[in-house]
Amino acid sequence: MTDRYAVIGNPISHSKSPEIHTMFSEQFKGKPAGDMVYKDRILAPLDGFAETIERLRKEGYKGCNVTVPFKFEAFQVATQRTGPAQIMQAVNTLKFFDDGRIFGDNTDGKGLVRDIKENLHFDIVGKHILLMGAGGAAHGVAQPLFDINRNLAVVNRTVEKARHMTDAFDKQDQTTVNTYEELVGQRFDLVINATSSGLSDEMPPLPPGIFAPGALAYDMMYGRDTPFMKFARANGAATVSDGLGMLVEQAAESFFLWRGERPDTVPVIATLRLP
Ligand code: NDP
Repeated sequence: MTDRYAVIGNPISHSKSPEIHTMFSEQFKGKPAGDMVYKDRILAPLDGFAETIERLRKEGYKGCNVTVPFKFEAFQVATQRTGPAQIMQAVNTLKFFDDGRIFGDNTDGKGLVRDIKENLHFDIVGKHILLMGAGGAAHGVAQPLFDINRNLAVVNRTVEKARHMTDAFDKQDQTTVNTYEELVGQRFDLVINATSSGLSDEMPPLPPGIFAPGALAYDMMYGRDTPFMKFARANGAATVSDGLGMLVEQAAESFFLWRGERPDTVPVIATLRLP
């Protein structure tokens, strides 16, 4: 029987996951990995996530992606978790086993790092990195970035949240937590916007002169040219990217977990970028 997958969130109608996974599965047509269907966007009630997961399992689904605001509840329903999921206390991929076990992973960090390294050809090692934000998205990527490069600065409007986020790290090393004012005079090779400021067309209060020569400015948001991306172009960033590549790469990690094969992400990113 063809294996079924879905994405769960609230809201959910905007999700591109069904489109992305359908393109992935078509790459494995005629092979076991391609014997799947992923077309359902499931709107779970805000107080009914665990019940929705139970229903999907009973209906025979093999797994699901989880998006806002349920990533922390998905961590709770998982009976086994990967290291990244454990550290972030948040899960975006669930795999259901017939014996009742639920495996939870968080692929956001791997997706971001892969997009930056493989698609944008930017070497993270040895670079001075600034991570903006301390919400769900920042939590998902902070530790994977820290694992590769401890020269990491974090900034958030509510600075206590950034402190709490980095408390979970093994060791602070060169990692610093900053207010936006404290960034004046500092320069970074990689600036990652993991805030939701782009959603409301706002610009985090970054000082000018923040980009070092050759810097990459990365906005995790996709689907629009954000004020941060415009600011980066006007203030000397060498490369400016949105988060579409990350979206596809984190999906590829989910696909690998479920189907045991790694899809080619390049044509999928290109298709999604078509006007
Ligand atoms: P949250 O609501 O959890 O966190 C929002 C964060 O943004 C907080 O740190 C908040 O600061 C900060 N913030 C909001 N507005 C501003 C502003 N005007 N200036 C400065 N900081 C601001 O959101 P998420 O972390 O879940 O999502 C963040 C973004 O990441 C979204 O745009 C989402 O679409 C994107 N994303 C992309 C993914 C991808 O695959 N490409 C995956 C996951 C998320 P404070 O704490 O002070 O309120």
